[in-house]
This record gives sequence, C-alpha cells and structure tokens, in this order.
Amino acid sequence: MNGARKSSSSRVYNKRRSLLTIVDVFNKSHGRDDDENTTPGGVFKKNAKTFLTTPHSRRQKDLLLLSKRSTSIRTNATQQQRDQQMLRKDEEEDVAATKQPRWELERHFKFDSPNDSNIDREMDAIETKCKEFKAKYEGKLSSNAALLESIEMFEEIEIELTRALSYVSLASDTRLEDMKMQQRKASLMQRYGSLQGNFLQWFSLEIANLEEEDIEKQYKMHDGKLKTKYKAFIEEERRSKPYNLSKEVERALTVRSAFAGKRQVVEFYGNELSRLRFPLKDSENGETTKEVNMEVLLAKMTSSKDTKTRRECMNILNEGLVKFERTCALSLNMVAGSWHIENTERGFKNLRSQRNVSNNVPDEAVDSLLLAVKTTGVDLCKKYYRLKKGILKETQGLEEFTWADRNATIDIGTGSDSYSWEQAVQICKDGYEKFSPTMAKHFTDMVENKRIDVPAVDGKRGGAYCSSSYGCGPFQLLNFTGTQRDVATLAHESGHGVHFILSYKQGILQYHPPLTLAETASIFGEMIVFRDLLERAPSDQDRLQMIMCKCDDIINSVVRQCSFDAFEAKVHEKRQNGQVTPEEMTEAWKECMVDYYGEEGDVYDSYKDTSHLWAYVSHFHNVPFYVYSYAFADLVVGALYGVYAKQPEGFEEKLLDLLSAGGTKGFVEALEPFGLDPSSDTFWSDALTAHLGGLLDEAEQLAKKLNYVSQ
Ligand SMILES: [Zn+2]
Repeated sequence: MNGARKSSSSRVYNKRRSLLTIVDVFNKSHGRDDDENTTPGGVFKKNAKTFLTTPHSRRQKDLLLLSKRSTSIRTNATQQQRDQQMLRKDEEEDVAATKQPRWELERHFKFDSPNDSNIDREMDAIETKCKEFKAKYEGKLSSNAALLESIEMFEEIEIELTRALSYVSLASDTRLEDMKMQQRKASLMQRYGSLQGNFLQWFSLEIANLEEEDIEKQYKMHDGKLKTKYKAFIEEERRSKPYNLSKEVERALTVRSAFAGKRQVVEFYGNELSRLRFPLKDSENGETTKEVNMEVLLAKMTSSKDTKTRRECMNILNEGLVKFERTCALSLNMVAGSWHIENTERGFKNLRSQRNVSNNVPDEAVDSLLLAVKTTGVDLCKKYYRLKKGILKETQGLEEFTWADRNATIDIGTGSDSYSWEQAVQICKDGYEKFSPTMAKHFTDMVENKRIDVPAVDGKRGGAYCSSSYGCGPFQLLNFTGTQRDVATLAHESGHGVHFILSYKQGILQYHPPLTLAETASIFGEMIVFRDLLERAPSDQDRLQMIMCKCDDIINSVVRQCSFDAFEAKVHEKRQNGQVTPEEMTEAWKECMVDYYGEEGDVYDSYKDTSHLWAYVSHFHNVPFYVYSYAFADLVVGALYGVYAKQPEGFEEKLLDLLSAGGTKGFVEALEPFGLDPSSDTFWSDALTAHLGGLLDEAEQLAKKLNYVSQ
C-alpha cells in the first residue's frame, strides 16, 4: 500500500481502490467491540478513503458509481475471530480448513486464470469502446435521444469492466502473498483508472448539469424507456448538482489532492497507528513483556475472562495512545478544518450534510436518529450495563464494573461453541427457510455453486465480505473457524448475497441498494438465524449468553457509534474557531462518555484509562461523520424486525419486494409498505425499543430466572 501511495498516480490509485473489491458501506462488524471497526489497516479504512479523499461531487460520484459496479460489502474480522484464528493455527485446524470448500471463480467468470491473455484482449476492446463513447457523446447529451443511447453504451462498458476486474480482484484476495498476482491486479487497476479518468469521468458531471427540460423531453421519447429503465440512475447522478463547483475548480481539486492537502497527513496518521506497539505482559510468567500491536492487545482484552487482565490491557492501551495524541490531533485538525471549508464552499447546510447527501439521507432523519439514541438509546444502554454488571458480579465475582469490562463475555453457556462447515450451512439454511423459502433457495444455490470461499488459510484476506460482481456474482469470502460468530457471519454475508441476486434485474447502474438499505438483508438474515438458534439453545444459560452477546453488538453499533459522532461534532465545532489541542479533544471525549454512559458511579464505577481512546478511532480521519451509519442500518432493520415480529403474515413478500428494488427506491419509499415512516418523531425510538428493548427484556427475565440478579 505504501508503495502505491507514494507513486505519482495516487489519484488513480485512489480510484482503483474503489473497484478493487471492497466498498464497505456499513462494515457491520459482528464484533462485540465496536472498536474493532476502528482498528488500523482495516479494509474499511482503506476503502472508505475513496470517498473521503476525493472532493465532493464528480469524483466522489464517479467513485461511488464505479464502486457500485462491483461492490463488496465487507465485514471485518472481529478481534475475537482474529484471536481465534491466531490461536487455532495448529495442524489439526489446518487439515480441517483444507477440506472446506473454495469458491470456483473460473467457472463463473469464464477466465482460465488471472494471467489469461483473454483478459488483456477484453481490456483492449473495452478501451476502444470507451474512446468511442467519449467521442460520440461528450457535450451532446442534450440532443435527441442521446441520453438513452449513451447510458446503454455506458452500461455495457461497465458490465465488461466489472467482469474482468472483479475476477482478478477476487482471485488475488486468496493469494495475497503471490507478488506476481498482486502486480497483475495493480496493473489492471491502473489501466482501469486511466480509462475512467480519460474517457468516462465526464459522463456523471454532464448528466448532473443537464437542463431539466432536456431530460423531460428525452423521457418522453421511445415510449418512456429512458424513464422506466434509468430514472433512478439519472436522479442519483443529479443529486450532487447543487454542490458541484465549476468544471475547472473540480478538476484543479482532483489533480491537486493527490499531492497536497489532508490526505497525506491522514495516511501518516493511519500508518503510525498501525505501527504502534504496546508492552504486553507474557501470560506464562508475569516477568517478561512482549511488544504487540493494537489488534493483539484489543483481542486479549475482549477475550479475557479475567478482570485484572482486562484492566491491565486497558491501561496499556490508554498509556500507549498518550504518546500518539499529537499526531492524531494534527490529522484531526486538518480533516475538520478542510471539512468546514468545503462545506462553506459547496454550500452544505450543516456539519453532517455533506455526508448525508452522499448517504442519500435527509438531514432531519439523521438528526432525529441521533436524538433518539441520546435519549431512549442511552436509557436502554444504562439498563443493559446494570444487568451485565449484576451478572458479571455473580458469575465472575466482579466487584467494580469498569470500562474494561464493557465487552467481557458472559461465560455461562453449556452448549458447544464449535460448528463444522456443514453444520453452519444447515443452521443458516434452516433459519432462512423458516422465514423465506426463496431466500433459503438462493442461499443454497450460493453454497452449491461454489460461490463461497470458506477456510481461514494463510495468504487470504482476513474478515469476510460479499462481492456483488454484477453479471457473474455474488461471491462470499469468509474465514470460517467454526465459532458461533462465524455462523452469524455466514448468515450475514449470505443476506447480502441474496439481496444482490434479487436486485440484479435492475441492471448494473441501479441494482445496488442505497447505503441506508444496504444492510437490510444481511442484518435481517443474521437476526432470523439468531432467533432460530436461540430457540434451539440447549439451556437458559446458553440463551442468556447469546442474548447478552447480541445486546453487546447492538449497543456497540448504535449507542457507541453515536457517542463517537457526538465527539466528532464537538471537535468540528471547535475547529471552526481555530486549532483544537489534544487536551481539548481529551476533554470532549470525556464529556461524551458521561453523556452516553452516565457519570462515574452511575452505571460504570470507573472510566479509568479511557481518556485517550479518541486517538485510535480512524473513522474520524478517514470518513468524517460516517459513524452514525452503523446505528442507522441497525435500527432500520430493527424497525423492520419489529414489524415482522408483530405481524409475520405477508411480511416475506414485502421484504423480497424491498430487496428486489435494489437502488431504485430511497429508504423512505422502501419502508412505506411496512407502515414505517422514518420521518416520524417516534420512528427511531420505536426501533430502539423493538430491537434492543425486546432483547433486553428477555435477558432480564432469564437472568432473574437463573438467579443472577434479584427478582
Ligand atoms: Zn454487511
């Protein structure tokens, strides 16, 4: 990565990333620790950067669009998963892993290998077509029926590009140590970048700039084909129009951003963060210490069942970050400063509007989400941690509940936490089947047609994702080690897969759901499988453990991320009046902890060693004001699940319709058939109550029944 960044073509590099496999729209981590989302070097970070580092509008639009052609929705490995992967590297596991199914890309993409010369021939043909496209239509979109013809040609180019590049990109993800393969991918992506920049980029800006009457006139031609088939695409292109600057200014920003500005500093911050090392005591004998990176440290903290170890890790983490705060503050000052200037120049209304426009969500919806989380969400969150504190006291003898215990496992289950691949498939199939035979069928097809790369083997990208690979996909990359969480990941990624399959019929330009709905099928799928497993859990202890784990996940996605957002807002507001010091950032962080989790002594007895944790949340640097998206996605699905739980009849059909619509419906319109109105005052608090509140009640009843807390 560093090499590519240093090259003079870093803008091209940046674009390449967008197609390169992953655009994690929500990157919904299954981790019980949200901090997972923020660890350095995560795929999310790298890819989200494609949005961040580009000036708004044209480039951003292009990136967004192109990324949609072959987007992958990615779930990072959780710390626990990684920890387990690390721990499970014994021979027995390796043998088991080699027997697990691999995806068969060649069969679906019809190439022999990434070195297949047919790929180069196709790229040559695409290049010729791209040149023709530009020569034929640039500056002429308003004449006659040029819009329909040009979009059709653009669509063809996109499909062809996706096939070649998606194949190479996926293939290289299972051979990361093969340098020749990585080189091959890099050179193809570079080629793609130059095609994009030289022959395709103009298209988005020109569509955005077309006069309304020209579009209306063309909508009436050809029996309305343009409107029926491509309206959503055209509207998406045009949404950024009010914020576009002149062609010359956009071009200057684009050219300049590769060499100057915040990007270099943000990258420096990210690189330094991944280089941080923390002195961890050797568990064998407390005498010696070893230097570990942050991922290992966090994994140790979240997986430890010993409160003393957890606190030590927290202390080491916080101390280690103190030394890093100046670098972090420099980067954050640059990001917030340039965000502020750009907002003014482009005319965005408030702090988050720029992000909201790219997420296609009205400001009001986001504001009301944040308010609901700060009120209803915080109440539920405190209630949850009081319960957790009580259970940990009974089961682990915990006297003082600290921040380090927040994600501790409630280790009371009696059932096995190990599943074979076949069992995992059966569990997901059963879960999906109960809800929707259609979804179950698509799931089974993915398994049977070798669209899933299962084992956790060396040289493979970590975590999990589902790539849409329009025209040939979908494909899932997993790192399956047999834990319950791995089963949930399969359910989640399969949800994305089913969503893609259902929406492909909208065409490559419109099949991808808006960011606000991109996680619908995945989180919903995970939820139905979770519910099915819960019903079949062998004991109340297992059930309680599972529900507590789920609540940890939800609170980390919802409340924690919104507390991050609140911190970000404080820093950005201060930045408008000048530089913000690291001390001021620490203060803002502490205030947010209290706002979202209560004063010390309220629920948490101590926030010791948490004052510098703001320094490692890389989202603040890479994608300003993105964090609320996690809460958004989780709660939209929570609301849907609430409707389903109350009234299962007829729900499946409506959900399949929603999924099939792909990107042709915004979230307000898509939620209408369910009787949900996201603009209503109570939408988010109802969702919180249905989603988190329901689970919390169940957990409380079980804990009482098992005498972990008083009646
Ligand atoms: Zn997902």
